[in-house]
Amino acid sequence: MPTMYYDANAPWSNYHKTVGAMAPDGSGPQLIIESLAKIVASDSIQPSGLVRFSTFGVKLFEHLAKIEAEHPVTATSPRIAAGIVGAGWSFAPLIGTPILQLLCDGLSTVTELMPDEWHPLCKVPADHIVLAGGGTLMTDVALFAEQRGRTLITSGSYLGPTIAGAFATSSHGSRLHYGGIQNMVLGMHLIVGKREHVWIERRSSPVLDTNGLVRLTIDGVPPRLVQDDDKFEDALIHLGAMGIVNGVALNLTENRLFTLLQRVRMLTPDFLRLISAGDFRAVAAQLGCQVDPSFYELTLNPQHPFDDEAMHTMYIPTAREPLMPPGDANIVHPADAIAMLGAILVGSTKLAVGETPNTLAAGKGQKPIPPFVMRRILKGADSAFSFYRNVKPFEQVAQPFDPEDPFREPYRWSGLHGGGITGGSPGALYNASFAVPLDRVADAVPAICAAVADLLPSFVFTLRFVEGASGTLTFTRFEYCAVIEIDGLSPLICALAKATADPNDPYLAEYQQALDELAVTMPTGAAAVRDTLEAAGIPYSMHWAKLGDLDKDKVYADYGRPTEPDSLIRRWRETRDDLLPDFGRAVFWNDAVVTYGLIDL
Ligand SMILES: Cc1cc2nc3c(=O)[nH]c(=O)nc-3n(C[C@H](O)[C@H](O)[C@H](O)COP(=O)(O)OP(=O)(O)OC[C@H]3O[C@@H](n4cnc5c(N)ncnc54)[C@H](O)[C@@H]3O)c2cc1C
Repeated sequence: MPTMYYDANAPWSNYHKTVGAMAPDGSGPQLIIESLAKIVASDSIQPSGLVRFSTFGVKLFEHLAKIEAEHPVTATSPRIAAGIVGAGWSFAPLIGTPILQLLCDGLSTVTELMPDEWHPLCKVPADHIVLAGGGTLMTDVALFAEQRGRTLITSGSYLGPTIAGAFATSSHGSRLHYGGIQNMVLGMHLIVGKREHVWIERRSSPVLDTNGLVRLTIDGVPPRLVQDDDKFEDALIHLGAMGIVNGVALNLTENRLFTLLQRVRMLTPDFLRLISAGDFRAVAAQLGCQVDPSFYELTLNPQHPFDDEAMHTMYIPTAREPLMPPGDANIVHPADAIAMLGAILVGSTKLAVGETPNTLAAGKGQKPIPPFVMRRILKGADSAFSFYRNVKPFEQVAQPFDPEDPFREPYRWSGLHGGGITGGSPGALYNASFAVPLDRVADAVPAICAAVADLLPSFVFTLRFVEGASGTLTFTRFEYCAVIEIDGLSPLICALAKATADPNDPYLAEYQQALDELAVTMPTGAAAVRDTLEAAGIPYSMHWAKLGDLDKDKVYADYGRPTEPDSLIRRWRETRDDLLPDFGRAVFWNDAVVTYGLIDL
């Protein structure tokens, strides 16, 4: 049976330590939560996932009743957020509320949809649908599916987020010709009040038949059924503001194997034009592969886009049938490399024997202090990009790439995606993501690279691709989208390195001064990307869960002011008002959705 635990005045940090105030031990920001609740439901064993959702619902009803009793909502009472958290991977304050918090990663379960629960008008066959608790980690969904010959259609770089948290923010990977994680969601079970819950699905493709809906009954309360395509699209990118996502029906695909292409190749304006045209087959051919890729990711040196080799990752489908179960590809992502750098930065505050700032700076011969610091922290690399490239060298495009080559390992989706960042330095990463129309990539990349050319080389740019993203408020709002990410050393890791610097370091002053400069590099870089896209007239939107100072003006410019009749925010709000009772409207919000102007308190 599910259990709810409560902890008073409990310290809590988000995965990337971007929320709260510095902890007394100086390890990074944290919040002290007055009442931190944690639901544990992973031991549920009922054969029907819907019955499991119903048992979770009993505890969630009780939890909301407790909140309502302890914090009654009146016309004059301050608004207190219910504080819904998934895996806590968001950088933005979509999570982190000081009074109440509910950790939902224990809402964890995966089952097949039973044939007698499946609606005959559903466009997806029952054997391609699983029911997953809202707090289920993506990795658990993938492993469950792959044992049954299915897998995720897409995911982010890592499988560590929860399913409800991941699609809340339109998280995406780079599966070609597909949308974000939200595109896999076929139906949602929302707990919206102390005795109210909703099953929402598309009218054009209903998921649950009567048996299924009956099994969802919680403590005698049947779910309210909302079958509406538009409302479903609105509720998808819920940002924690549409109630507790107790469970979802997910569309899976056939499990299949991929070979991993990781090659370096110079980038040229013509190469970028192939990407802009969406001709990924031609892009693969440039990398020596004649087969259509299923996934493509490009990481480039922001300061030398056309005179350094860029790093290209593709998943190429293969028909091979290995005798042994496929293993893990152990892909190193830019975020992993940045985290490794962070660990070096906080652990290497002394100069090596024989090194001086001047000898190290002499290698670059430009700015006197920063190159010395960069060379020192990058262990001799010129930039975060070259450090990343050295961590796990990619192949040259010397030979044709044959996905059927028996010497190339085949991998499942789960083997191509790790659970979380490696590197052992939480809070080291700064990341901001900008979605642009795919056909503007060839203009956008040179422009943003020029804009950051003079910054310290503590970051990389990575491009990923999304097509036809669902969800009214998806930030990947262009039909054909490229998402440009800036990954680099965070202000926090620079501050921690500064605070832990060796007081006897003969170059302490220079080192600390340089760390100060490094600390502002990423926010400056993200702002420069924004300014450049604006100035070039390239439309863009920003990831809801990441950094870069997304604000109300930008959100209204992209999705329409709520006062305008065709505003997407207006219709998102109307659906929220329809789904939530008064109490739900009072508690299901967070600081970010208020800052973004999506909700007025
Ligand atoms: C290392 C790292 C790698 C990342 N990689 C990618 C990537 O490849 N692609 C990408 O697009 N993004 C990526 N992100 C961003 C990440 O996918 C999003 O922040 C995602 O929202 C995190 O999911 P989560 O489970 O941690 O949710 P949280 O961050 O905990 O919550 C996100 C939102 O969902 C709400 N929420 C969570 N669970 C529930 C629930 N059960 N019911 C109702 N509301 C809920 C919260 O209130 C909040 O508003 C990455 C982040 C990190 C730190």
